[in-house]
Amino acid sequence: MVTGNLVSLRPASYSDATVPKESLSPEPSAEAEAVRVCIMGSTGSIGRSTMDVVHSLRPKYRVTGLCAARRWRELAAQAAEARPSAVAIAQPTHAEALRPLLNGSTELLVGPEGLVELAGRPDSDFVVAAIVGAAGLPSTIAAVRAGKRVGLANKEALVVAGSILIPLARHSGACLLPIDSEHSAIFQSMTAGRPSEVKRILLTASGGPFRTWSGPEIAQATVEDALRHPTWKMGPKITIDSATMMNKALEIIEARWLFGLPVESIEVLVHPESIIHSMVEFCDGSVIAQLGTPDMRTPIQYSLTYPNRVSGCATRLDFATIRRLNFEPPDLERFPALRLGYEVARAGGTAGAVFNAANEAAVEAFLSRRIPFGRIVQLIEEVLGRHTVSPSPDLDELLEADAWARREVMECMKD
Ligand code: NAD
Ligand code: MG
Repeated sequence: MVTGNLVSLRPASYSDATVPKESLSPEPSAEAEAVRVCIMGSTGSIGRSTMDVVHSLRPKYRVTGLCAARRWRELAAQAAEARPSAVAIAQPTHAEALRPLLNGSTELLVGPEGLVELAGRPDSDFVVAAIVGAAGLPSTIAAVRAGKRVGLANKEALVVAGSILIPLARHSGACLLPIDSEHSAIFQSMTAGRPSEVKRILLTASGGPFRTWSGPEIAQATVEDALRHPTWKMGPKITIDSATMMNKALEIIEARWLFGLPVESIEVLVHPESIIHSMVEFCDGSVIAQLGTPDMRTPIQYSLTYPNRVSGCATRLDFATIRRLNFEPPDLERFPALRLGYEVARAGGTAGAVFNAANEAAVEAFLSRRIPFGRIVQLIEEVLGRHTVSPSPDLDELLEADAWARREVMECMKD
């Protein structure tokens, strides 16, 4: 196997000094200890898929931590099944309802501090960061600071604070493994060469539900239209991000941090079938891709079992049935979020925090039917236009930029 071929990931995930390959193996001997997995955001779409994967990998893997924002009944049901040593609930008002439903040996941690404590506890080896939005940043930082292996679904954490997380991982020896399907595909394709041999990354995009819609039709799309994703079943926020193509914009920034490549070498390619999850073109013209049915259990499992592969639960590809795969360039006129994504990736500093927070606030406003679909990206652009980028922010400055952007969205909505 080729190792040491990623730039930003190398110190975190490939470092022979800090993460011995054997410790990542999912094939311990019968007597060896199980890999202990903590799932942050366990009641969500990625969280539930992770529960399935860990279940299928028993007894070599077991769940030791679970957490959710509010859905305490589901969290209690997951805890009854997995018997973790601790669970955390972000919303303190639900703690008293949850407590009596927990087994006596499961500790209950409460509030944002409880989440941070759970992610850094010594009784887990692997933390799956699957909280949605910047709300996942503190616990992701805690897991990275504690030197864990971190399966990263929470792309917003990198968009907001890649400049903090990547050096922190390098320092603590934490291992960042991408769960986002495109980044997992790039990560896997990268093993075919060296970083210096990479020409460009082709980040594939389904194009979302409005790929074939006109600009005016997109502007008037309803919440129901936007939640109808053609290929992936995901949580509501990322589904709206896929409809605006903000998801791909966030993924450009995510790729830039994970793989340490110049923004110019990251290209978006629309591929409606979502079969090719992304590709890497090398200097000799060879293009290496990772393919599979659109099922997040595959990249989740790969992150858990890396560098090994074990039998997976997703449906297999049948090329004779698929027959053809389609591609088209992205339309930056109808999907201006992509243009903004490139601008923000180039700007760096506080731009990512503002971009992400403005999007979160605008998506929330759209989902609660306070703004039309077309206003989401307009609001993000307006807020970015009002922001003066600070080039080398610390974490406090990034969090201030995040809070400022959310307030600005509210101000712009009054106009
Ligand atoms: P979801 O809405 O289905 O689930 C979100 C989870 O986060 C829930 O468990 C919820 O309780 C928890 N949560 C929300 N706010 C929280 C808070 N303030 N504190 C603590 N917990 C909180 O979302 P999802 O679709 O599973 O996406 C999760 C993350 O994974 C996102 O960053 C998304 O971009 C990324 N991702 C998702 C998919 C997918 O297929 N769903 C694919 C790639 C990447
Ligand atoms: Mg993705």
